[in-house]
Parts: sequence; structure tokens; C-alpha cells
Amino acid sequence: MEVELLKYDETHVQFILKGSNPAFANSLRRIMISEVPTLAIDEVVFLDNTSVLFDEIIAHRLALIPLKVDPDFIRVARKNPSKYEIRFYLDIEAKKGPLTVYSGDLKTDDPHVKPISDSIPIVKLATGQKLVLEAYARIGVGREHAKWSPVSACAYKYMPIIKINESLCSLCGTCVAYCPRNVFSIENNKLIVKNPLECTLCKYCEVVCPNDAIRVKGDDTTFIFKVESVGSLPVDFIVTEAAEILKEKCETFLKLLKEIKEKGLKEEGVSEEDRAN
Ligand code: SF4
Ligand code: SF4
Repeated sequence: MEVELLKYDETHVQFILKGSNPAFANSLRRIMISEVPTLAIDEVVFLDNTSVLFDEIIAHRLALIPLKVDPDFIRVARKNPSKYEIRFYLDIEAKKGPLTVYSGDLKTDDPHVKPISDSIPIVKLATGQKLVLEAYARIGVGREHAKWSPVSACAYKYMPIIKINESLCSLCGTCVAYCPRNVFSIENNKLIVKNPLECTLCKYCEVVCPNDAIRVKGDDTTFIFKVESVGSLPVDFIVTEAAEILKEKCETFLKLLKEIKEKGLKEEGVSEEDRAN
């Protein structure tokens, strides 16, 4: 298996996974979405709320604010998530006129955790309205609730294989004009596949070609991944942590299989020496 990096910054990554299969690619994708843990507000205690929004709506809005957290903290905390809880508090009153409460108004005792942006609106207060609360952030995973999912986008597609039969191609340019992703061009009297990675495998070029000169299919051993972090964790950490979780799951599965096999052989009366062989 091989990985080729195409694009990377702190919140986005695009890479090609080669020499793999759909089951592995999909397991990796699903673990990134639903099993890499993050921190999110999980419980809110309202001490005063005279705003127009119900407590439940404000609690829901608070839960969906992505919290930036140290990856090393997550690496340690995922082994024992119930041990960790981070308290936020908010005490704000619109004394001098209407105001908007933003994520930046949330305070915490832990300097290593904070909202990814200070400008996410929570609620608007009219003059004299007040919001006082305590919120508790906990470790969780996206399979329990989407607020814990570390990614806003995580998808892959099969690597396109585009074959042109030059003996049939009349260079009419129809595929160039109709391809929605601008994959083709005609240069020096030749049809060129200039952007193969952009192809969505829609096969429209096959349909419009008057000479049946194009064949498009997906390579089910090579996958183009695009992953976007919500900002709580660096995207490279999300990918590598997902791979680590998948490895741990496979190891656990193999261990359980071994235990089941051992148990079965023992029940059949096979000696310890023979079982070892
Ligand atoms: S399959 Fe669709 S996206 Fe791909 S080259 Fe053909 S028309 Fe373009
Ligand atoms: S539509 Fe078919 S014949 Fe026309 S340029 Fe494309 S491949 Fe060639």
C-alpha cells in the first residue's frame, strides 16, 4: 500500500491511496467520521436565561461550536474518555443596548482548549436580557453525536481510468465541450486527458462521443481522498489516528478469533501441545 500526498494544509488534505481495496478505504473513511474522538460541550447548566431562545436551543448551539484541542491530549484521553471534563462559563448581560453573544465570550479555566473561532454567534440579547451558564465539554466520537465528528467533509472516489481509442477518435471535440470537469483538451491534433483527477466517473463523455472512442472506469485499488477538518484537530492527525484505531480494531479482532479457536479446540479435547501446533 502506498500514499501519495496531493495537497495539504492544517485543515484540508488530498491524497491518493494506492494498492488498497474498497473495504479498507471505506473503513478508514468511516473511522475518520465517526471514531476519532474530539471534545464538545455535552452538558449545560443554565443559571439565568432571559434571552428569546430556549435553554435547549442555546445548549444545542454551544455543543456545535468546534473546540480546538491539543492532539496529544486526545491521544491520551481516548484511552479513558470519561476521566476528562473541561468547564466553560459565560456571564453576560446587555446593559447598554442589544448585543450578540459570541463563542469568544465563553471562558474556561483550561488555557489549552478554546473555540476554533471567537466570532460564532450564540444568541442575540435585547437590552436588559441576560445569559449566565456553565458548560461541560467531554470527549466523545461522531458515532454518538455529530458534534464530536472531527471532519466536515471526508470522501473518496475511485481513481479514473480514461482510455481513448485514437483509431476511432475523429477529434470532433464533443467530449471536450460536454465534460463537466474540463478533463479533455485537443492539442496538436490530439485528444489529451489533461485533468484525470478531476473526473467524476459520470461517463457523459462515453454517451456523447459519436464514435464510441472513449471508455471510462474506476480503479478499485486506487482511491483519491479529500478530508476537511472542522478545525478542532489538525487534519493529518485525524488521518493517522484513524489508521491507528483501525489497526487496533484489527488486532482486537485477531485476538478474539484466536481465543474462539482455542476454546473450540479445548472443547474438542485437543491437547495443549497439539493446540500450540
Ligand atoms: S466521465 Fe464525466 S467527468 Fe469524467 S471525463 Fe467523462 S465526462 Fe468528464
Ligand atoms: S467525442 Fe469521441 S470522437 Fe469526438 S473528440 Fe471526443 S473521443 Fe474523439
